[in-house]
Amino acid sequence: MIPVTYYPVGTQKAFARNAQRIAGKPYAHYFNGDMVLHEDVLPALRAPMDPAHALTTSPADLNSLLDPGYHEVENGYCALPDGSAYVTSLTRFPGCTSEMFRWWFWWHSFEPERYTLWYPWNHVSVRRKDLAAASAPGLSHEQRYIGSTHIITEYIGPDRMKIEITFVDPASWGFDVARFAAAGISGHACGDVFLQPIRLRAGTMVHLIRDTDDGFELRSRYWLADRPSISVAGRELNLSLPATLLGIKRRLAGERVGYEQLLHDQIEFTHLASFLPKIYAEFGSDGP
Ligand code: ZN
Repeated sequence: MIPVTYYPVGTQKAFARNAQRIAGKPYAHYFNGDMVLHEDVLPALRAPMDPAHALTTSPADLNSLLDPGYHEVENGYCALPDGSAYVTSLTRFPGCTSEMFRWWFWWHSFEPERYTLWYPWNHVSVRRKDLAAASAPGLSHEQRYIGSTHIITEYIGPDRMKIEITFVDPASWGFDVARFAAAGISGHACGDVFLQPIRLRAGTMVHLIRDTDDGFELRSRYWLADRPSISVAGRELNLSLPATLLGIKRRLAGERVGYEQLLHDQIEFTHLASFLPKIYAEFGSDGP
């Protein structure tokens, strides 16, 4: 493990505010600003990967995540020819169970202070409009986040982003969910990413967890600025071609944002793995 030493100035201020805001919360003792990276991910952060190894969002490519073993590139980032970006990230969760992962994906979203635990420097706030419905007793973990939209402010690198993530059933993207159990896939958090306030579709996010001998591993894939569109009067307006031609995809994504997204994913999930078993043991049976 090596310590993270680069904290963009905006995130330093966010950290100070988050530390103040969380004081008094019953889970404040999990707020910890010591972020680390696994040494084996460093090569992936030093140069972009070969785009020839990037997956697409086609069902065939998505379902290749259900095959045994690993892809050619599990950690990497690159720009694609149209200016969009692809990111692939693998993080390990020794001592963690899929139950903990599925619990975390709704539990963190019920209070913005909980969200800051995950990445105390870069996570600013999360909000949901469906809290009352999602708090109903008797729901499964997945029923508390699939179909829901999380309204998020977070730093990606030095950029303060206002985004929304709408979590989807992976079957709706063509994932062969009937193969999940045999493939050891025991949890998922897949979603469409939008930029606020116009809800410009800004990316596709896949998180799949796979059981390992000592816990699970998380395989994440992001396509940034892959299919930009906006909803106008209830109809989806595809902006992909003009966004490519005008260089908007490259500005929204490109290598620069792809790199920051890989770094962000590695830091936040490595950090989450460090306290997930303990916070789940303390709060996992409390309800919303
Ligand atoms: Zn984050």
